Amino acid sequence: MDKTKYIFITGGVVSSLGKGVAASSIGTLLEARGFNITIQKLDPYINVDPGTMNPFQHGEVFVTDDGAETDLDLGHYERFTSLSLTKKNNLTSGKVYDTVINNERRGLYLGKTVQVIPHITDEIKKNIMEAADGKDIVIVEIGGTVGDIESLPFLEAIRQFKLDKGKDNVLYIHLTLVPFIKTAGELKTKPTQHSVRELRAIGIEPSIIICRADRILPQDIKAKIALFCNVEEGAVITAKDEDSIYDVPLALRREGLDSKIIEYLNIWARSPDLSEWENISNTIKTLKNSITIGIVGKYVNLKESYKSLNESLIHGGLANSINVKVKYINSEDFEGDCLEEKLKGLEGCSGILVPGGFGLRGINGMLQTVEYARINKIPYLGICLGMQLLTIEYARNVLGLRDANSYEFNETTPNPVINIMDDQKNIGNMGGTMRLGAYPCVISKNTLAYNIYFRNNKGYKYITNDKNGVKLNLDGTISISERHRHRFEFNNKYREAFEASGFIFSGVSPDGKLIEICELKDYPWFIGCQFHPEFKSSPLYPHPLFVGFVAAAVKYFNALNGLEKSSHAKNKRKTLAL
Ligand code: GLN
Repeated sequence: MDKTKYIFITGGVVSSLGKGVAASSIGTLLEARGFNITIQKLDPYINVDPGTMNPFQHGEVFVTDDGAETDLDLGHYERFTSLSLTKKNNLTSGKVYDTVINNERRGLYLGKTVQVIPHITDEIKKNIMEAADGKDIVIVEIGGTVGDIESLPFLEAIRQFKLDKGKDNVLYIHLTLVPFIKTAGELKTKPTQHSVRELRAIGIEPSIIICRADRILPQDIKAKIALFCNVEEGAVITAKDEDSIYDVPLALRREGLDSKIIEYLNIWARSPDLSEWENISNTIKTLKNSITIGIVGKYVNLKESYKSLNESLIHGGLANSINVKVKYINSEDFEGDCLEEKLKGLEGCSGILVPGGFGLRGINGMLQTVEYARINKIPYLGICLGMQLLTIEYARNVLGLRDANSYEFNETTPNPVINIMDDQKNIGNMGGTMRLGAYPCVISKNTLAYNIYFRNNKGYKYITNDKNGVKLNLDGTISISERHRHRFEFNNKYREAFEASGFIFSGVSPDGKLIEICELKDYPWFIGCQFHPEFKSSPLYPHPLFVGFVAAAVKYFNALNGLEKSSHAKNKRKTLAL
């Protein structure tokens, strides 16, 4: 018998209310009470997965260990819990329709008329139950806003869940907005009332209403919402704007959310142990100093495109007890004239990061950034594309291969330092065809990468950290597992030439064939990784590469200040030989 309890979270009034953070925080609270949980996201769009979507439109594509390209909310779920999610945790309308239409073509519906109810809704329910897979509690977040046409089949499917599983096993939570109207000097409940009415019209009665507001709702407002929306007063929960998303679980606990959830689901649970989250929250509040990291990429206009990266830098900052400020610089601004002027944008940055990306646009600007970081010995972290560009810049300016390039940007280059793998050459289908998900990597001794993974600046050993999967091998090397999302690889034809000049390939695949991490010899901190460490960082387990990067940036900043006493040495940096 299915003993799993189901919590469905819908959103109303407007989008961007933080449903993902609310779902994640509920996950944090329930895990802290000892439950075995999972979190699933249902996305109403027709794309089969978000992998082919432009990051400008939909934000970052989050990648799981099993190689699923998913919605960025899954990143929140992993950062707030101990979960390592899989492709089962993200379902889109596109995926549902794809399966149903394929089933129909294969004759599996035995000649019946195939309809939204029951065929589409059954397929949705089947996927939710598959994600449940014996867990105590499944939290299901429904993307979009109640009232959208697209989300109707999902809402109908979750409505049926209560009939299928019984009322003690299913809980609906609705997240809405309670705006404060300045001119009236009042908090307004009407949008919440309308949104709940909309939900009830399709047969879903929420038992708990989480109200996003800029202040804690006073009792009379809670009473009004309770009365009009047919819930208990104690089930109207404020989700006040917090300075840090990592304060949200604690804030929701103070409002009594987790107690209400277990009361309604009729389950017993110990009181939650949130001491680690309290530590994080206290650390955030006591940070005094800041450091600036420059991110040079082309998706900088939409912060959501680098969601996990931003969070990882915050985690790295927490581990070093410093605030990390990010300065976004559009690599396309670096193209063309007045480069000197533009590079000034990087002057206040104590570390430079070139993140992942696709396509030719903005590449020259990124290459100039790498060169600038290298000749000035500024701490540099290159992620995926940022690592590939590190090797191209080195090939061009140190090895003298002026036409070195990636096959991605020039298919006929005589020096494809970054090349396409043979099995990727004839791919016509763009979705899900890259090197995706977790791959192992072995790190050599006596390298920067080794020091980074072995211990952070506080001497804390990551070796024992299961979440990051770091293991010390008998031969003294370190094994790690990291997530990938790319099509191109370092070309081994150039390995010897690189090594002969002192370039270090510090992390490679266990068979030695794929380059995973590279670094520059005799540089304080200059490293590139072919994988995406940002997908495995969380506030409780900050990723070693980000801990190390922020530590190096702090050291760099202090060294400059030590030299200059007053401020961050601005004009001491060398400019590029153009
Ligand atoms: N465009 C590069 C590749 O496909 C890098 C991808 C990335 O940065 N995620 O290999």
